[in-house]
This record gives sequence, structure tokens and C-alpha cells, in this order.
Amino acid sequence: MIKFLDLRKQYESIREEINEAIKNVILDSAFIGGRYVAKFEEEFAEFIGAKYCIGVGNGTDALEIAIEALELPKGSEIIVPALTFIASAEAVTRSGHKVVFCDVGEDYLISIDDLKSKITKRTAAIMVVHLYGHPCDMDRILEIANEYNLRVIEDCAQAHGAEYNGKRVGTFGDISAFSFYPGKNLGAFGDAGAIVTNNQNLAIKCKMIRNHGRLDKYNHEFEGRNSRLDGIQAAILSVKLKHLSAWNNHREYVASLYDKGLKDIGDIIIPPKSPKVKHVYHLYVIRTKKRDELRHWLKQNNIETGIHYPIALPDLKAYEYLNDNKVKFYASEIVKEITSLPMGDHLSESDVLEVINKIKEFYLG
Ligand SMILES: *Cc1c(COP(=O)(O)O)cnc(C)c1O
Repeated sequence: MIKFLDLRKQYESIREEINEAIKNVILDSAFIGGRYVAKFEEEFAEFIGAKYCIGVGNGTDALEIAIEALELPKGSEIIVPALTFIASAEAVTRSGHKVVFCDVGEDYLISIDDLKSKITKRTAAIMVVHLYGHPCDMDRILEIANEYNLRVIEDCAQAHGAEYNGKRVGTFGDISAFSFYPGKNLGAFGDAGAIVTNNQNLAIKCKMIRNHGRLDKYNHEFEGRNSRLDGIQAAILSVKLKHLSAWNNHREYVASLYDKGLKDIGDIIIPPKSPKVKHVYHLYVIRTKKRDELRHWLKQNNIETGIHYPIALPDLKAYEYLNDNKVKFYASEIVKEITSLPMGDHLSESDVLEVINKIKEFYLG
């Protein structure tokens, strides 16, 4: 069986370090906030190359709190790509704003041309999603944001350590959100997330929002919420952060094997990659008209695959009210043809070659 993801195997490879870290948090009773959270926040900010990191309960909260901290006029429009996980759009609506979907291009990322056409007088921000671990074209996005005076929120949930022009994502926009959901490139042992920014005022605001609108014990300056990062999760993340670059490099290596093996097979389109980026391959997504048959064949051969995502956001029932399902999105075509192959530090070279061979057999017999 070639697994899509194998968190047990990753744990076995760092078992002692992880067990020790968890034990220390318990012995110190540093369950909520405290020094393990502060330590991880510092380390993660340094890793990304940003001034501030604020740990929160999960990636969706990170997005929502980041948007709230921007204090955009109520009912502002925020542009969100049509191909992403629902959380990117949910955070917009939940913080009192209106989602405006923007199509994606051949590279599965927010389309610069469509982006311009979606800007109105009410547009306040652009949410970019570095989908699958490939950074968006930040030069052009920042150019547009400057021209129209829009804030930029980066959804980095799939792009821990990804780089654009040699700089890590999470440092380009006004504010950025990361998820440490267990299956992400950097994952906790439960829910966890973080906000990253270079703006001190935004950092303080986020810190207050995540903890009931306060910085010290019972001095609540406004109503916030509870979305704190657990000490145990933070300690686990500190251990795993030390391995992240090696794991990301292994993902790149796996992707290079897939690229080489699959580029001329059938109608397969391998993942596009810009020369300006370091891609961290949260997902390795191929495109083919025979998607469903291929997935079925791979399943019969004990190879797990996924689809990210099977339905474009504008086509979801949740967004029926926007009436965007009448508009034709290229994203709606793409989702019928994409599948995600096994990807991660659990894969050996022979696992990857096995996947490639089975795919070749499917197309070439
Ligand atoms: C995982 C993910 C999120 C949400 O993160 P959670 O920690 O699960 O709340 C947001 N956006 C994208 C693109 C994601 O992949």
C-alpha cells in the first residue's frame, strides 16, 4: 500500500524528541500560552523572515482574525480565488465581509487578468492562496494592490517555507495566515494555526483578538474571542520546525521524480512551476481527462490519491447565494480533471517509481 500521507511514520522518525517535548509541557503545566507558545512564535517568525508571529487555534481562525485586525469597512468586498479550501472564503464572510470569487489560471492560482476585472469601489482586500505550495505571482499582485489601494492577505496554509524571488511567503502581504492542521507540511498533533505580519499594530490587534480582547489578565479593551495555541501543540511544532526544510526538500525530490516520469505520459499535465519560486509541494496535483478511471486503477493497485478540490467554491451550495454559479469559472473545469498523488516525507524513491510505473501501465498497457 502506498499511502497518500503517513503521519505515523513521520512520528516514528522523531519519536524521542516529540515525547520529550510533550512531557516537558505537562511537567511545567504550560498548557495555554506560556513559554512553549512564545518560543514557537519566535522561531516561526524567524523561519518565515517576518517580525511577528501570533499562534492561534487553527488556520481558519488565523485567516478570520487577520481579516478582523485589518479593520476594513463593514461589508467590504474581498477577492478570493475560486479554487481553494472553503476556509479561505469562510473567513471573509465570518468577519462581516463579502466574498467575490476570482477565477484561477492554468497554474491553478489566482488569475491576474480576472482579478483586475473583479475590483469594484467596495473592494478592500485581495486574499491570495499559495495553493498546493506554489507561491502566487506576488510582484503583479502587489502592483495591483498598490494601484487600487487594497490590502493583501496571504493564505499560506499549504506553503510553509515556499519562496517567491528568494523570500518566504507570508512576508509579501499585509498579514498572513498559516495552518498547522496535522496533514500540512508543518503539522501539529491536533488543530493549530498562526498569523504572521511585519506590522506591529496588526500583531498587537491579533494578539488581543485571540485572547478575549486583552493583553493582560482582566483588562479587556474590546470583545475578542478564544483562539489560543496550546503549549503541547507549540512544543510539537518547535520540534517539527527543525525538520521542515529537510521534509520540504524531500517533497521537491519526490516531485522531480514524478515530473520526470510523468511528463510525456498520456494526456497528463504535470504541475506547472514558475522559475521565480521554491515550490514546497504540499500537494502534487496532475491533470488528465481520464482522472476518475486513473484513480480507480491506482486504488485497485493499492495507491491512494485525493482530489483538491472536487468542487470549485462558486459551485458549492454554501455559495449559491452569490449567484456565481451562473458565471463560468475555469476552476469548475479544472476540478473535473485533477488528482493529487501521494506526497510527503514518508515516500521512498521506490514508492514513487512504483506510482509512476502503475500510471504508465494505465496509459500504455
Ligand atoms: C488547511 C487550509 C486552511 C484551514 O486551516 P485549518 O487549520 O484546517 O483551519 C485554510 N486555507 C487553506 C488553503 C488550507 O489548505
